[in-house]
Amino acid sequence: MAARILDGNQIREQIKAELAGEIRELKAAGITPGLAAVLVGTNPASQIYVRNKVKTSAALGLFGEKIDLPASTSTGELLDVVDRLNAREEIDGILIQLPLPPQVDSKKVLSAVDPAKDVDGLHPLNVGRLVSGDFRLVPCTPAGVIEILKRSAIPIRGSRAVVIGRSDIVGKPVALLLMHEHSTVTVCHSKTRDLPQVAQEGDILIAAMGRPAFVTGEFIRPGATVIDVGINRLTTEEEVRRVFHDPAGPLRQLAEKGQVLVGDVQPEDVKERAGAYTPVPGGVGPLTIAMLMANTVRAARQRRGMRAPG
Ligand code: NDP
Repeated sequence: MAARILDGNQIREQIKAELAGEIRELKAAGITPGLAAVLVGTNPASQIYVRNKVKTSAALGLFGEKIDLPASTSTGELLDVVDRLNAREEIDGILIQLPLPPQVDSKKVLSAVDPAKDVDGLHPLNVGRLVSGDFRLVPCTPAGVIEILKRSAIPIRGSRAVVIGRSDIVGKPVALLLMHEHSTVTVCHSKTRDLPQVAQEGDILIAAMGRPAFVTGEFIRPGATVIDVGINRLTTEEEVRRVFHDPAGPLRQLAEKGQVLVGDVQPEDVKERAGAYTPVPGGVGPLTIAMLMANTVRAARQRRGMRAPG
């Protein structure tokens, strides 16, 4: 049987429609949730992400503000910007686009964000709350992974989940969320021995490594649900030929667009082995911004002591 595609774009639209209703109600009560996105430097991928985040906030009726700072910004200057945003009543969410330039102390900056406005869920207080299961503001991409699984009716409770990657932004929080949802979770990383065999134990396999098409058929338990968080850009013919068994289509795409997006999972193998999977693009990616919007609305409520709807 052909593997089911878990369509992130469709799930994003569902979430946005639900949020639009919530935002209308808040606005009727005189509250417009506000998001400030801070971009330091000119990293092209970060510029696109921030632009899309601000554009989506505006489309949903939120107040969105983009703050551009030069690549030479110091830790102290960025801390001043964060302080000012913390103090502004109309700002409910503060997003510091990562990665920050090397001279900036990222941990110090993320820890300076008011935890009540920390829509990326990276402040140590919110990380601690995530560990203890007291969910307030949960990191967006991991929250998106859980939304995909739940809204696609993939059973999590009692499942075996294998997460490949242990970053603070994706691997660790996704593993914690799955554990809180009563999955039995194994977290793998670059020092894990016998990775394909360990990965094969997963009814749910999450790949969050940043290694193009690293997860091949031998990692995938037949019928497993495979969630591919990776976003990698292939820009040479050689890379495309190395990744795809049948490179004709991707090579055409490379010629037309100058790049081919691929996840951490081999896209042809996953179709054959998995029961369900997220494609790249169009899987986890679309959920990240949707969950950022959801966190901004949630922060707006929580800061005013309002309960979540429903
Ligand atoms: P990091 O580089 O911070 O972490 C990568 C993790 O993968 C590390 O824990 C590393 O292990 C592990 N890893 C790397 N190589 C191997 C290997 N050969 N075998 C086993 N484990 C390995 O990346 P992020 O977590 O920030 O991002 C992961 C991917 O997800 C990237 O492609 C990124 O672009 C994408 N991403 C996508 C988002 C979306 O919206 N869809 C949002 C955020 C990220 P170790 O700890 O031992 O070094």
